[in-house]
Amino acid sequence: MELQAFRSRRVVTPEGLRQAAILLEGEKIQAVVSPDQVPKNFNMRDFGDAAILPGLVDSHVHINDPGRAEWEGFETATRAAAAGGYTFLVDMPLNCLPATTTLAALEAKRSVAQGRCRVDWAAWGGVVEDNQDDIEALAAAGVPGFKCFLIHPGIHGFTMVTEQQLRAVLPAIARTGLPLLVHAELPGPIDAATESLANADWRRYETYLQSRPEEAELAAIRLLLSLCREYNFRLHIVHLSASAALQELRTARSLGLALTVETCPHYLCLTSETINDGATVCKCAPPIRGRENCKRLWQGLCEGVIDLVVTDHSPCPPAVKKLDEGNFRTAWGGISSISLALPVMWTEASHRGFTLLDIARWMSEAPARLAGCHLRKGRIAPGFDADFVAFDPEGEFVVNEERVYYRHPLSPYLGAELRGVVRATYLRGKPVFQDGEFPGQPAGREFRAAHLGSAK
Ligand SMILES: [Zn+2]
Repeated sequence: MELQAFRSRRVVTPEGLRQAAILLEGEKIQAVVSPDQVPKNFNMRDFGDAAILPGLVDSHVHINDPGRAEWEGFETATRAAAAGGYTFLVDMPLNCLPATTTLAALEAKRSVAQGRCRVDWAAWGGVVEDNQDDIEALAAAGVPGFKCFLIHPGIHGFTMVTEQQLRAVLPAIARTGLPLLVHAELPGPIDAATESLANADWRRYETYLQSRPEEAELAAIRLLLSLCREYNFRLHIVHLSASAALQELRTARSLGLALTVETCPHYLCLTSETINDGATVCKCAPPIRGRENCKRLWQGLCEGVIDLVVTDHSPCPPAVKKLDEGNFRTAWGGISSISLALPVMWTEASHRGFTLLDIARWMSEAPARLAGCHLRKGRIAPGFDADFVAFDPEGEFVVNEERVYYRHPLSPYLGAELRGVVRATYLRGKPVFQDGEFPGQPAGREFRAAHLGSAK
């Protein structure tokens, strides 16, 4: 078995940032030692000043494969992920066709992913109006959890669930012990707001923002918290945008509810005041809100009310983004950022006084725990997979189309000056991205989660 030692002045370990050498035995981390304790039979690789972080984990990605591979696909999504420092992705169950709501659909996904992934991956199962009977089979087949929408997801092939439909499926979800990830917006406040804006100018960002008020998120989160108390399932709120919900989330957590919360780089690093009219590249749901809201989201992250930061990488072809018309009503809602999320976050987080330890917690350890792979991924510690990103925190660059690596080079960050450069990414001991190249054949594997039923 190959013995390697990765040395750096800044290794991000659970105990803190320190000068260390990571000893690798094949695909695993054997030990983390001081640099003068490396045994002679280990091949030493010196990263000097570049920091070594655990490979990032993105538990919220839309790969769109099979069925809409022209929107992204496993090859380009995992290539861009590797370039962004990610070593593990969890694919959302919608935008692909078929949606991942049955065992047959999960098998179809597995067969198209075969041999095409540059990083490890897993697939969330979907909960839709009519698949209550598929939940236990999906859990037994290894999905790490489930995703549902309380509002129409804006694409055919995946239905929203009503409160009544959700109640019907929650006992089965609770029995699996797996988390339920929920898009938390209720249609009522959005339908009412949209109706009142029928004659508004939909090229204006302000119109779109008004059409998706904070109340829609707040009402959904209140409903979910009460269901969580009633049914005792693990609740995860995806892409929180409305800081108005933080107080109730804080209270629920303090009462010990099985609750986790995520937000995304675009809610933390972009604000509505700076989005130009017609800039549909910035359209996502829930929407990017104002500067004060953004400040409170950072506060929520700092306090731990928000656990993790994931990209919600949701690409589409340029025509679907309606860049020519700039119409926020008809444009696809989704932001692509997986290859850029680390420098985007680091630029803003370092400016606000956060450290690489915070980044590793938000973008690696916490999402790994959500996805159930926290005993193998998300930490630089003995027994874990040798997944790393070598990151130059002082490096700077300007984002251009050549650096995004996903299929369609659309991004709100094009032209941005960012701090922090991904030098290399290692998957289970082997480089999958290095100085702009992708060495080796795709070697990513699927991770299958264990669930409560499987432990019997
Ligand atoms: Zn999403």
